Amino acid sequence: MSHCCAPLLLPLLAVIVVVSALPPVIRIGAIFTEDQKDSSTELAFKYAVYRINKDKSILPNTTLVYDIQYVPKDDSFRTSKKACKQMEQGIQAIFGPSDPVLGAHIQSICEALDVPHLETRVDFEPSFKEFSINLHPSQEHMNQAFQDVMAFLNWTKVAVVYEEDYDITSSKGLFKLQDLVKSPPTQRTEMYIRQANPATYRQVLKEIRQKEIYKLIVDTNPKHMYKFFRAILQLQMNDYRYHYMFTTFDIETFDLEDFKYNSVNITAFRLVDVEDKRVSEKLAQMEKFQPIGQSILNRSGIIQAESALMFDSVYVFAKGLSALDQGHVLKPANLSCELEHPWEDGLSLYNYLNTASLHGLTGHIEFIEGRRSDFKLDIMKLKREQLQLVGHWSMGHGVNITDPAAFYESSVNNITLIVMTREEKPYVMVREDKNLTGNSRYEGFCIDLLKAIANQVDFNYDIRLVPDHMYGVYDPETKSWNGIVRELMDKRADLAVASMTINYARESVIDFTKPFMNLGIGILFKVSESMPKRLFSFMKPLAVEIWLSMLGAYVLVSLTIWVVARFSPYEWRVPEPCCLGVLEPEAEPEVYENDFTLSNSFWFTIGTLMQQGSDLNPQATSTRIVGGIWWFFTLIIISSYTANLAAFLTVERMITPIENAAELAEQTEISYGTLEGGSTMTFFRDSKIGIYQKMWRFMESKRPSVFVNSYEEGIKRVLEGNYAFLMESTMLDYAVQRDCNLTQIGGLLDSKGYGIATPKGSPWRDKISLAILELQEKGTIQILYDKWWKNTGDVCNRDDKSKESKANALGVENIGGVFVVLLCGLALAIIVAVLEFCWNSRKNAQTDRQSLCSEMAEELRFAIRCHGSRQRPALKRTCSRCSPGTTYVPAALEMPHINGVNLDPVLHRTWYFHQDGHHHSHSPPAEAANPHTCCDPDEWDNVLVAEKHGL
Ligand code: ASP
Repeated sequence: MSHCCAPLLLPLLAVIVVVSALPPVIRIGAIFTEDQKDSSTELAFKYAVYRINKDKSILPNTTLVYDIQYVPKDDSFRTSKKACKQMEQGIQAIFGPSDPVLGAHIQSICEALDVPHLETRVDFEPSFKEFSINLHPSQEHMNQAFQDVMAFLNWTKVAVVYEEDYDITSSKGLFKLQDLVKSPPTQRTEMYIRQANPATYRQVLKEIRQKEIYKLIVDTNPKHMYKFFRAILQLQMNDYRYHYMFTTFDIETFDLEDFKYNSVNITAFRLVDVEDKRVSEKLAQMEKFQPIGQSILNRSGIIQAESALMFDSVYVFAKGLSALDQGHVLKPANLSCELEHPWEDGLSLYNYLNTASLHGLTGHIEFIEGRRSDFKLDIMKLKREQLQLVGHWSMGHGVNITDPAAFYESSVNNITLIVMTREEKPYVMVREDKNLTGNSRYEGFCIDLLKAIANQVDFNYDIRLVPDHMYGVYDPETKSWNGIVRELMDKRADLAVASMTINYARESVIDFTKPFMNLGIGILFKVSESMPKRLFSFMKPLAVEIWLSMLGAYVLVSLTIWVVARFSPYEWRVPEPCCLGVLEPEAEPEVYENDFTLSNSFWFTIGTLMQQGSDLNPQATSTRIVGGIWWFFTLIIISSYTANLAAFLTVERMITPIENAAELAEQTEISYGTLEGGSTMTFFRDSKIGIYQKMWRFMESKRPSVFVNSYEEGIKRVLEGNYAFLMESTMLDYAVQRDCNLTQIGGLLDSKGYGIATPKGSPWRDKISLAILELQEKGTIQILYDKWWKNTGDVCNRDDKSKESKANALGVENIGGVFVVLLCGLALAIIVAVLEFCWNSRKNAQTDRQSLCSEMAEELRFAIRCHGSRQRPALKRTCSRCSPGTTYVPAALEMPHINGVNLDPVLHRTWYFHQDGHHHSHSPPAEAANPHTCCDPDEWDNVLVAEKHGL
């Protein structure tokens, strides 16, 4: 029986032997540092054990039992002790710890006792380690992966930032990327290596920025990652030029919100391919396992690499056991660190583990000499506002980029910038159509300008309205900014396109492009309806000195004409015959008459000045010169006066109670204010000029507040009356052009410009500045200005005169020349008079056979003698050579009178002349036959009694 049964029993025994190759319980030890207690890594370990025990698909007859020990960080002695204790309890493998120093100690114990050591830590020593199975890709392979990516991206100048205390093997003072630094991808790649810690991140980054290095490999402690991010933001090293390659596998677990919209390049490798279906299913199962599962995951579907590696390492162990189960009997043994007897089955188990091949959370798992081989890394890149899988790196195949555009797009194309703005007519206006969405909701000058700039620079934009509806001012009390400035400072926007004034305070916290429009602060006021009447406003067209000069000129000319008329012999004539009676033609006149008595001279000049004339007519050349020049003078003066009076009357209609800022500051009746939270307000607040300081004190203290929330509100207050609004000239022009009841008073208080604002250090500033200059030179900005200011059809019609508001009294500088001409004329007249006098004296001297001098002296005496009277007696003399002395016949006394007419006592003869002076006869014309009726003015304008030395 026993014999016949033997063949049957043998296979059964063999099955029993095979089945029992693994003990029913296998103990495994795990060492975690104290800070890993209840961490996702520990939970992942526990969960993996649980799953293997539960599923029974890998180890159907064996249950894994774990022993976890927590050790203080950096305490290798305690760690070793705890590991030894676990060895004594008969563990068949030891997991962890992740700390490189402690890991090295455990490694040496495992090597001594031949116990497999399953690790998930980065190991940057290339040498082979017995009994170690490390699931973490070796640093050698990682360096290769970095090199391949750098070569693909053509990086030539790279900064490597690594963290002290994290990256360095304390024993050797080496850092894990040193091999990468030693052998850069190409010969010409410059590597700049800097050690940093959270306290020095900013300083190190600043140095890198100064060196103009834009490609960085960052190997920091993940715990400090947010501090590093903050330093990037603080230094604004977050634009499209910068490319950060992080060594962490967990980039997905960080919040990259601050980097999504500024086109900074962030690249990293990922070990857990969550997009693989098998992986995502496992993670989903894990997540459902409460309460542990959810805690293992960082967030839904995302697990940290370390936890994933730990999870996979348990599976690797199970797989190794399962392989061993087929052909080896495992005899657990209680080991001792003191005795140092190695475990007999340790090497076999290690060899089985080394040949394990499975697909875990970290992809395909295979080992060569305890190190991962044939693994694949996902290349993740921040693209279009989220991290995306853009390619892979695998051993042997290197980089395989599936989305190359992801690396080149961000230079400038396809970038959407957030543009902050504020509603302001006519810069930015919200369209009324409620169906519109996106940027089409807005219109205005700035929107058109933005469109033109975006076309030129090539970017997309998304317009947003500033929440607090302010441009932005610094509040010294809260020490903070508000409005658009705040939004830019907080990087909530990339650009601000609005009527944003460039000023010192703003320029120190944000950047501005070149100005696209120039302006200044002006005063908006209501046009006055009733103007104050001025009684003597007719005096205003000429300056006081002109009035006085005119008075002087009047007196001077009157006196000149009087003197010249007396001097000039041609101004003396024989009194009219009708008044003298009929004279013998040969009779010498007894008296001579001169029309230009003193009073007549004054009357003549005033008559012509008033444009009325007088019946006095100068006869002599000299007096005619005086008269002519005076007429010229009056012509100029009167026409200038008339023209300026017209201007004054027009201006008077537009006079406002205040004329400029100084007058505004001087009074308190009319209140005035500015826009709240804008540069106009800060102009007054921060001004060091007395008038503006005074105005600020008034504005600040005035209740109710004189500050308004919008320009519309300000304009409304102006129209209500008794309020002047200090606003920017561009908006002022817009308002004045559209409402004839509004006007600008005074000039501009300052001069500045509007610019497009960007956060400090923005790479867009220079590009946009260039675009602005080009648009300016092409005239596009002027066209846009005309479109929004002038061609909108709502411009009000006002008299063109209104703008040339100021009429000034004419002063010496304007019409002084005419006085000069007058003086010259008078001088000329005097010279002519003297010449006439001399000429006449010479003639008389010949006739009278007198010497010229005595004749002149006599004539002069004779002219002066009769003062201002109209008549003078005729000069009678005997021949001077016959008789020296001259006999005067006193006027009127000795003259015979015929019917009240003076008769020439010498000739007693009457000469009749036609006015032309040629026709003369000794007998009167028919009408004049009777001397009483001789003075017919129509026929005989002048009937002159010719003196012997006359005509
Ligand atoms: N444009 C101005 C600003 O940027 C507004 C103002 O204060 O008048 O603040």
